[in-house]
Amino acid sequence: MAKKQFKTESKRLLDLMINSIYTHREIFLRELISNASDAIDKRYYAAMQAGNTGLNRDEYEIRIEVDEQQRTLSVTDDGCGMSAEELETNLGTIAKSGTRAFAQSLENAEDINVIGQFGVGFYSAFMVADKVTVYSHKEGETAAVWESTGEDGYTVSECDYEPIGTKIVLHLKANGDEANYDEFLQEYRLSSLVKKYSDYIRYPIRMQVGHQQKKEGTEDEYETVYEDQTLNSRVPLWSKNKNEITKEEYNAFYRDTFYDFEEPASVLHIRTEGMLSYTALLYLPKKPPFDFNTKGFKRGLKLYANGVMIMESCEELLPEYFGFVKGLVDSPDLSLNISREMLQHDRQLSAIANNLKKKIQQELLRMLKDERDAYAEFFRAFGRTLKFGVYDNYGMNAEFLKDTLLFHSRALDKEITLKEYVDAMPEGQKQIYYAAGDSLAHVLKLPQTEKVAEKGYDILCLTDDVDEFALRILREYDGKPFASVSDPSLDLATDDEKKAMEEKKTESKELLDRIKTALGDRVSEVGLTDRLKSAVACLTGEEGMSVEMYKVLRQMPNGETVPMTFRLELNPEHPLFKKLGTLNDAQLGEYAELIFAQAKLMAGLPLDDPAAFSEAVCKLM
Ligand code: ADP
Ligand code: MG
Repeated sequence: MAKKQFKTESKRLLDLMINSIYTHREIFLRELISNASDAIDKRYYAAMQAGNTGLNRDEYEIRIEVDEQQRTLSVTDDGCGMSAEELETNLGTIAKSGTRAFAQSLENAEDINVIGQFGVGFYSAFMVADKVTVYSHKEGETAAVWESTGEDGYTVSECDYEPIGTKIVLHLKANGDEANYDEFLQEYRLSSLVKKYSDYIRYPIRMQVGHQQKKEGTEDEYETVYEDQTLNSRVPLWSKNKNEITKEEYNAFYRDTFYDFEEPASVLHIRTEGMLSYTALLYLPKKPPFDFNTKGFKRGLKLYANGVMIMESCEELLPEYFGFVKGLVDSPDLSLNISREMLQHDRQLSAIANNLKKKIQQELLRMLKDERDAYAEFFRAFGRTLKFGVYDNYGMNAEFLKDTLLFHSRALDKEITLKEYVDAMPEGQKQIYYAAGDSLAHVLKLPQTEKVAEKGYDILCLTDDVDEFALRILREYDGKPFASVSDPSLDLATDDEKKAMEEKKTESKELLDRIKTALGDRVSEVGLTDRLKSAVACLTGEEGMSVEMYKVLRQMPNGETVPMTFRLELNPEHPLFKKLGTLNDAQLGEYAELIFAQAKLMAGLPLDDPAAFSEAVCKLM
């Protein structure tokens, strides 16, 4: 029989499993049982959809068998089974993007310790076995067997495995110096592994367990009697009462189900009955999964209909801005008879989703109030997603999300909410000031911030590219409009100051015109500003589009074409400004170039001609 080769990524993952020195090899059992349970769900779900409602869910089972002589361990299910073709595609390639990314990311053996973080799936069998045989029989297909000893590929052929379902036989590796595989032949060890990782599996996981019994009619002769035992309690964690579940149980379930190393930042266990009945178990993670910001990331909750998983990841249950939430929803009201496509437009489902998003928002606000530090940490991990949610969809969810946001306060040097900012505003302050830049250090040094800060007003420091867009969409908080310290229309001056400024503008008109002529189209206007203190000039965008927003847009696909002109604003109180009036046209031209370049640098914009700039500076020196 011709051997087939694994796809490259599969091969890499497989190599890793085979040569694994990972100490938690035991997770292979969890993976096989979880596949078995999924397969039974699939079979049951398909039967229900086909209108075959006479099935009894309790008649399905997952069976573990041990053969000590042969040193084999097998896991059998009466699930959907696989055709020869499916054996080939499902077991010869890595289907799941997460697992694929995992395999790609693993360059060295030390990383093996992160295995537990991922659902490594079927291949984990090779951590304990040197040969794996999979017998499978799908309804209406010829039964087939898949077999592999690892790296050198696999075979698929027809066979006469009768029952519908799948039997996976692991030929355990020989015991070596560093590992003893015999433990996976011991009933006690196996049953405690099932308890540890698979207790909530809703189908019975059965095993023949032998115990000694006195032989009938004898005094002291014993024989081993085998008895079928169900190893798992089968009660899904989420269907227990909250007060019966310990924090450890919640956390362990989270780690094993969602493959996170860390404990969750928060757990929400929701049960509602009445018009809409469902149970939800939601977790807010502490850190984003490795693929969170990639296309491969799948947002969604697991969806169960009365304990049977009908969707691995139901997107409709979570809005994008809460995409970081992990968890599941189980509802007796969801009909198993409807197709996945129909489910997506299901009224029940959208009602549940609507409830959940409110619960999540409330939980975020609760954390913010009761566990400020934990919330701040959470926000560092996922705040960007929330801020993006404010901005996205034309601000449709801005109101709903605005109180979950944190921004860095310049005055307090820590993260604060918008409400905290407004509550701390001194008498007379009418706007909420913010400054945007690439980093906190950059923002703090922006020349435009000096005057605002001098007035005793706090400034929100924005460093995420989405920040300014989010605030602009919100427009105001509690009746106080947001104002960028760089905004040309920023209104800080008293009436007297304004009058004085007007006079200066008239006085300097000729000088400003000369500078504008020198700089040409690169600036839309040259004006005076009273918001600078130690700097001689700054650049601002036009109303509605700031320099920072321009920078963000430029980085987007096709962004090179975004048009932008800047206003150059000069500080009339600066000694250099006073000197400008005394220069001839040629000198003024050189000075104007330098001032413009400086202002660009401070705004974090690239220079058109860095060499010319450097030359001009040298000449001056
Ligand atoms: P995952 O379970 O995350 O999809 P696995 O590597 O665990 O990834 O399994 C790969 C695929 O093999 C599954 O998606 C499923 O299609 C198939 N499979 C594995 N075990 C079984 C089984 N016992 N019965 C039916 N199909 C199975
Ligand atoms: Mg799996």
